[in-house]
Amino acid sequence: MLDADFFRRWMTVTAAAVDREAERLTELDSPIGDADHGSNMQRGFTAVVAALEKEAPDTPGGVLTLAGRQLISTVGGASGPLYGTLLRRTGKTLGDAAEVTEEQFTDALRTGVDAVMALGGAAPGDKTMIDALVPAVDALADSFAAAQAAAEEGAVATTPLQARKGRASYLGERSIGHQDPGATSSSLLIGALVEASG
Ligand code: ADP
Ligand code: MG
Ligand code: MG
Repeated sequence: MLDADFFRRWMTVTAAAVDREAERLTELDSPIGDADHGSNMQRGFTAVVAALEKEAPDTPGGVLTLAGRQLISTVGGASGPLYGTLLRRTGKTLGDAAEVTEEQFTDALRTGVDAVMALGGAAPGDKTMIDALVPAVDALADSFAAAQAAAEEGAVATTPLQARKGRASYLGERSIGHQDPGATSSSLLIGALVEASG
C-alpha cells in the first residue's frame, strides 16, 4: 500500500532530481525552446516541497492535489499547468483514502495523463512530455522500475521526432534531432517513484 508519506517522498525525490538536472533541462530547452525548462521545474518543485512541509496533507490525494496546485500557481511556462494538471487530477482521482494500492495509483495516474492530453492537445509522437508519460503509465502495472525504464526510453525516442505541440513546434523540421526537455523531466518524475519506494 502507498500512503501520504510515500507520495511526499515522491515529490521530495523529484525536487532533488530536478535540482540536480536543472542545467541539463535548460540546455535541452535551448535549441528547441526558450532555455527556461530547468528553472521552471526548479521553481515549481521548490514550491511543492515548501507547501508540503507547511500544510502536511495526510492522504495521498491531498499530497498530490496540493503539489499540482503549487505547480500551476508558481510555474509560468507551459509545463506548469500541464504538470500541475497531471498531479492534481491524479490526486483528485485518489480521493481521500489514507492508503492506495499500486493498481489504484496506476489507474489514477492514467486519468492524470489523459487530463494533460486533453488540456494540451498533444498525442503520443508529438514530441512532448506525453511521449514519456504514456509508456510509463503502461509499464507501471509491472513495476516502478519498469515505468522508469519506459519513461527514459520514451524521452530518448523524442529526439528524431518533429514537434507538433508547444514552443518547439514553431521550429518545424528544425525541431528534429533534439531530445524534448519536458519528456526528459517526466522521466525524472517517474524515476523518482523508484527511490521513493526503496
Ligand atoms: P515553455 O515552453 O512555456 O517555456 P517549459 O520550457 O517549462 O515551458 O516546458 C516545455 C515542455 O512542455 C516541452 O518540452 C514539452 O514537453 C511540454 N509541452 C509544451 N506544450 C505541450 C503540450 N501542448 N502538451 C504536452 N506537453 C507540452
Ligand atoms: Mg521553455
Ligand atoms: Mg518559457
